[in-house]
Amino acid sequence: MKTVSDYFGSLVFDDRVMKAVLSAKVYASLKHTIDEGTPLDIGVANAVASAMKDWAIAHGATHYTHWFQPLTGVTAEKHDSFITPSPDGGVIMEFSGKELIKGEPDASSFPSGGLRATFEARGYTAWDPTSYAFIKGKVLCIPTAFCSYGGHALDKKTPLLRSMEALNRQSLRILKLFGVDNAKYVRSSVGPEQEYFLITKEMYDARPDLRFTGRTLFGAKPPKGQEMDDHYFGVIKPKVAAFMEELNEELWKLGILAKTEHNEVAPAQHELAPIYTTTNIATDHNQLMMEIMQKVAGRHGLVCLLHEKPFEGVNGSGKHNNWSLSTDTGVNLLSPGETPYENAQFLLFLCAVIKAVDDYQDLLRISVATAGNDHRLGANEAPPAVVSMFLGDELNAVLEAIETGEPYKGTERTVMKLGVDVLPKFTRDTTDRNRTSPFAFTGNKFEFRMLGSSNSIACANIMLNSAVAESLKVYADRLEEAEDFETALHEMIQKTIRDHKRIIFNGNGYDDAWIKEATEVRGLMNLKTTPDAFAHFMDAKNVAMLTGQKVFTKEEMRSRYEIMLENYCKTVIIEANTMVRIARKNIAPAIELYLGDVAKAANAKRALAPDLPCVYETRIIQKLSQYTDQIVLNADALEEAVEGISVAKDIGEESFMIKDTVLPKMDALRQVVDLAEVITAKTYWPFPSYGDILFSVK
Ligand code: ADP
Ligand code: MG
Repeated sequence: MKTVSDYFGSLVFDDRVMKAVLSAKVYASLKHTIDEGTPLDIGVANAVASAMKDWAIAHGATHYTHWFQPLTGVTAEKHDSFITPSPDGGVIMEFSGKELIKGEPDASSFPSGGLRATFEARGYTAWDPTSYAFIKGKVLCIPTAFCSYGGHALDKKTPLLRSMEALNRQSLRILKLFGVDNAKYVRSSVGPEQEYFLITKEMYDARPDLRFTGRTLFGAKPPKGQEMDDHYFGVIKPKVAAFMEELNEELWKLGILAKTEHNEVAPAQHELAPIYTTTNIATDHNQLMMEIMQKVAGRHGLVCLLHEKPFEGVNGSGKHNNWSLSTDTGVNLLSPGETPYENAQFLLFLCAVIKAVDDYQDLLRISVATAGNDHRLGANEAPPAVVSMFLGDELNAVLEAIETGEPYKGTERTVMKLGVDVLPKFTRDTTDRNRTSPFAFTGNKFEFRMLGSSNSIACANIMLNSAVAESLKVYADRLEEAEDFETALHEMIQKTIRDHKRIIFNGNGYDDAWIKEATEVRGLMNLKTTPDAFAHFMDAKNVAMLTGQKVFTKEEMRSRYEIMLENYCKTVIIEANTMVRIARKNIAPAIELYLGDVAKAANAKRALAPDLPCVYETRIIQKLSQYTDQIVLNADALEEAVEGISVAKDIGEESFMIKDTVLPKMDALRQVVDLAEVITAKTYWPFPSYGDILFSVK
């Protein structure tokens, strides 16, 4: 029998393969590029390309593609064959270093938010050698970044790599100040936990709302939902187990370390957690993971729903972005150290994150803002839209002691002062957990929990890396000039705690009282929706930080603003149009049919006995007549609201009009339909109910 270690990574051109198929010199040179970002010379690229092609062909590949992540959509690929005609009429299989390093997809239809003038409609893709090439089907996929000819980033990978570089630069400055000079680089790593729903293909096909929009736009709550909590960590059903088994196998072949899987809170909801890896690789892997989940589900007669809120009244799906920072020598910079000196360094990195999260609450919120995620955040199942941090009791006590200069409970010393010999030794505390915090410290990493299940994790990590790099820059600028390092360090940590402690909240984030305190007392931002959040994207401080860290140019930010809001508007408009169509074409006629039959029954009864009260028929006819009228009127009103947005002057205004006029009309239409659903006989209702769908997988 084949064991996992036999096939793990078998479809990846990873370090093991490189070592085996490249000459020592080429391997060393490529490794240098991967580890330290030195430019690759064309001779090396040619040798790598040739070896990669031979390896890929031996594994059944016939084509190659530069695999990239445009600003919308999941991933993009354009397949080119390795085949080149040879003079003798046959073909040879070719792949050059130039083709490996750079591609030119005809990408004029990818969103650019105005960055690409028509004369430079073609962008180019550039190989990211730090993320291994892999084979999908018969295609060798080469992870790449995607830019316009003017050099503007048109994808998510380019700014992500830039943000990692910014974080590396500033972290190394800080480490040097602490006397750490053996670290060549610092990288952030991520382990994203992915939630999803599995339903049968049969149910999916019967729901036009799911097919067109990825979520149900109508549907009354089932009599049994998640109230009993019996699904969470419960026994995995055989069909789901078979799906998970095949999914793991596919992921393992691609070198993706899928580790734990379990049922989630809602019926039909599950979670998959990978082992963490370097951020850009984790991002590539998460994109692949989402794609493969959907593919494998299809093979099992299932559909994998990645939407943030497929079912109203049932918990939605998110993604937990576990994030930390470590050196190439294997030191996790967010892990409390063994010695007081290491702890001082840990505290400084911790403070950098605290300051970053407070200063750039808006950017973090923006990084997870989509039409889908708006349905989830703040809905008592996911963190609120207010960004705050959870540190746990022990760390909190340490920070308080530093802030006030009061004795810390864990030390005999009277006053805490940071420095070589006065900092208390404290150990990591992973016992207390807070599930309601948007941004929680979990012992040696932070868990950012606001991401939606379908989001690329790139955006959140771009903001996180950049904002932390900015804090570290401020610290390094100050500390490098300091006459007395220890005093300056102590003052800076103290100042950070004083200035930013408002962002730290260890209580229940789902509590309404917290939202009130957060906004009214602490002055934290409550950016409830995507339009509210994006209205702050181009704020001067955000532009200054992101351009200062060389993560985006101002033009790139502007284009992203346009694209993300366009995406928001398009998503909601498609949903609104789908609702109007379904209400008129499917729902109202179905209710009428039922009404007609009920009326017929009443008439038939009365023909036999004129005095029969016909309570059931009368009630149904009265109520449903009222509902059908209301459905038609509400559908008209929704249609009008959609037409009304044409007067918007720009995309910002359009997004607010959609939020303020279209979404409420969608809710109104849905409400009546859901009322009608529960009193219409099941056989007449045109779609499967929530109960049918959520319990469809056996
Ligand atoms: P916990 O029990 O604290 O949730 P786990 O070990 O189960 O921790 O990890 C949860 C997720 O966090 C996993 O996806 C894991 O890979 C990831 N993770 C663990 N350590 C790190 C780290 N240092 N950096 C980034 N992610 C990490
Ligand atoms: Mg978690």
